[in-house]
Amino acid sequence: MAVKVDKATCTGCATCVSACPVEAIKITAEKAEVNEDTCIDCGTCVDECPVQALSL
Ligand code: SF4
Ligand code: SF4
Repeated sequence: MAVKVDKATCTGCATCVSACPVEAIKITAEKAEVNEDTCIDCGTCVDECPVQALSL
Protein backbone atom coordinates (compact mmCIF):
# COMPACT_ATOMS: atom_id res chain seq x y z
CA MET A 1 0.00 0.00 0.00
CA ALA A 2 1.14 3.54 0.76
CA VAL A 3 -0.59 6.86 0.70
CA LYS A 4 -1.73 8.25 -2.65
CA VAL A 5 -1.10 11.86 -3.61
CA ASP A 6 -3.60 13.77 -5.74
CA LYS A 7 -1.01 15.90 -7.50
CA ALA A 8 -3.63 18.20 -9.02
CA THR A 9 -4.72 19.17 -5.49
CA CYS A 10 -1.37 19.18 -3.67
CA THR A 11 0.04 22.68 -3.14
CA GLY A 12 3.50 21.53 -2.06
CA CYS A 13 3.05 23.07 1.39
CA ALA A 14 5.15 20.31 3.04
CA THR A 15 2.86 19.93 6.07
CA CYS A 16 2.82 16.19 5.39
CA VAL A 17 6.62 16.05 5.23
CA SER A 18 6.81 17.35 8.80
CA ALA A 19 3.88 15.21 9.96
CA CYS A 20 5.20 11.86 8.74
CA PRO A 21 6.84 9.91 11.60
CA VAL A 22 9.04 7.86 9.27
CA GLU A 23 10.10 10.58 6.81
CA ALA A 24 8.41 8.82 3.90
CA ILE A 25 7.37 12.02 2.09
CA LYS A 26 9.48 14.49 0.18
CA ILE A 27 8.58 17.37 -2.11
CA THR A 28 9.50 16.91 -5.77
CA ALA A 29 8.61 19.59 -8.31
CA GLU A 30 6.39 21.25 -5.65
CA LYS A 31 4.31 18.09 -5.12
CA ALA A 32 4.38 15.52 -2.32
CA GLU A 33 5.99 12.23 -3.23
CA VAL A 34 5.56 9.17 -1.00
CA ASN A 35 8.23 6.50 -0.67
CA GLU A 36 6.09 3.35 -0.85
CA ASP A 37 8.77 1.23 0.80
CA THR A 38 9.00 3.48 3.85
CA CYS A 39 5.33 4.45 4.37
CA ILE A 40 3.64 2.47 7.17
CA ASP A 41 0.06 3.57 6.30
CA CYS A 42 -0.38 5.33 9.64
CA GLY A 43 -2.69 7.97 8.16
CA THR A 44 -1.15 10.92 9.98
CA CYS A 45 -0.40 12.84 6.79
CA VAL A 46 -3.93 12.22 5.48
CA ASP A 47 -5.32 13.95 8.57
CA GLU A 48 -2.81 16.81 8.44
CA CYS A 49 -3.04 17.80 4.76
CA PRO A 50 -4.94 21.11 4.60
CA VAL A 51 -6.37 20.45 1.12
CA GLN A 52 -7.17 16.71 1.41
CA ALA A 53 -4.69 15.76 -1.30
CA LEU A 54 -3.70 12.52 0.44
CA SER A 55 -5.67 9.29 0.76
CA LEU A 56 -5.08 5.74 1.99
S1 SF4 B 1 0.23 18.47 3.14
FE1 SF4 B 1 -1.07 18.10 1.34
S2 SF4 B 1 -0.86 19.94 0.08
FE2 SF4 B 1 0.81 19.96 1.56
S3 SF4 B 1 2.52 18.98 0.45
FE3 SF4 B 1 1.45 17.39 1.61
S4 SF4 B 1 -0.02 16.51 0.17
FE4 SF4 B 1 0.64 18.48 -0.66
S1 SF4 C 1 0.62 7.34 6.03
FE1 SF4 C 1 2.02 7.73 7.74
S2 SF4 C 1 3.94 6.74 7.14
FE2 SF4 C 1 2.73 6.95 5.29
S3 SF4 C 1 3.42 8.86 4.37
FE3 SF4 C 1 1.61 9.33 5.67
S4 SF4 C 1 2.44 9.93 7.67
FE4 SF4 C 1 4.08 8.88 6.51
